[in-house]
Amino acid sequence: MEDKKKILRGLPSVDELVRGEALKEASSTHSAALVVEAARAALDEVRSRILAGSVKGVSINDIEGLALKRIGEALMPSVRKVVNASGTILHTNIGRALLSDEATRAVVLSAANNINLEMDASTGERGERDSLVAPLLRRLTGAEDIAVVNNNAAAVLITLNTLAEGREVIISRGELIEIGGSFRLPEIIKKSGCALKEVGTTNRTHPKDYVSAINANTALIFKAHTSNYKVVGFTSEVGLRELADIGEKHNIPVIEDLGSGSLVDLSLYGLPKEPVVSESVSTGAAVVTFSGDKLLGGPQAGIIAGKKGFIERIKKNPLKRALRADKLTLSALEATLRLYLNKERLPQRLPTLYFMTRPVEEINKAAECAAGLLKKKLGEGFDIKIENEESVIGGGSLPGYDLPTSAIAITHKDRGPDDIYSAFLANDPPILGRVSRDRFLLDMRAVLKPEDVVLSSAPDWK
Ligand SMILES: *Cc1c(COP(=O)(O)O)cnc(C)c1O
Repeated sequence: MEDKKKILRGLPSVDELVRGEALKEASSTHSAALVVEAARAALDEVRSRILAGSVKGVSINDIEGLALKRIGEALMPSVRKVVNASGTILHTNIGRALLSDEATRAVVLSAANNINLEMDASTGERGERDSLVAPLLRRLTGAEDIAVVNNNAAAVLITLNTLAEGREVIISRGELIEIGGSFRLPEIIKKSGCALKEVGTTNRTHPKDYVSAINANTALIFKAHTSNYKVVGFTSEVGLRELADIGEKHNIPVIEDLGSGSLVDLSLYGLPKEPVVSESVSTGAAVVTFSGDKLLGGPQAGIIAGKKGFIERIKKNPLKRALRADKLTLSALEATLRLYLNKERLPQRLPTLYFMTRPVEEINKAAECAAGLLKKKLGEGFDIKIENEESVIGGGSLPGYDLPTSAIAITHKDRGPDDIYSAFLANDPPILGRVSRDRFLLDMRAVLKPEDVVLSSAPDWK
């Protein structure tokens, strides 16, 4: 105890620390308050280490080092670039679609300037923000009118609330979806103020199930694209065409939540077909909802496309004001949609589609190059190989469909794959790989430059 007291007494004061060479230099670039706070925190940390008996003595250099580290941490932005070597192209946890160069430029323009957000630029009169994207979206979806909100969950919420509050919404038990934990269709229906009327079973729903559920209080028939899973085996679902016929006969609109909804037929690019928004519109959906940052490849947004009368009512709902998209989103969305006017060049210009169609030979070349760099950097103890693997699209798109890819598999003689995963994640910028079959993998499909997956220094394991 006497020993500890003696060490504690020998510690410098906050004031002395701040006046020392190391922190004085920091004070010339950072705020004085920040430096004092860091010095105090460093001293507190050292004191508790001494009291815990974990250190016998500390030098002033150690304390200064700790304080400088605190300053660095305080100044580190929370928003950081993450290298996506996970093999999931649209990864919700790291922000889904990358914007195209065109969309990125549009965001920068709108961020630094005032724009004609709610003003008709030719007359100076009050306009409506959604009209920045309405002509393009009408053209690309074939819908009479559109509205844009914060995301697709919001699109479903406001559509149901506007068109079915206090009334019943019919939906198949096979389509009561959950997307990424927090979006559960039954809960959204409830929050919209509607009553859920489930029909059919998990694997089979027939037209007669819908018909017999219709009553005087039925507001809508709802169809959800089961975008992140597949029901296989003894199954039967009622297609949109049939539902539209049933709806028309009973004068009940059919709403479709497409989720990942694509604006082009992906089979144009050699990929399996996902539902196309314009096809749902022409097949008879009264309203279609879909995300901006899934297959569309744009910013986070929810797009509502449908019959004029319905869209008008949705726009008048006070919730629209609460859920509207901001100028940065609308700018990025417009620039993204404009790329769709040239479908042939889309894979070169839209990162999401570029990653989806990237030839495996090209991915392999990037993997070979990165593996070479990694071998040099990591040195002894590591084993680095190239392996044929599979990437997925993610973002609730094309479930069960894998894209052949080339991945770097890294193992270590003493450490497990989870340790390697953590070491890559601790890099600056963090590199997100994945662990599969007891190996750590770096999938190069959505990585633009091989050097992006190379750690800035080898992990300090001995
Ligand atoms: C992804 C998805 C949603 C939620 O969309 P967000 O844009 O993430 O809010 C809703 N429905 C379906 C079918 C989806 O695939």
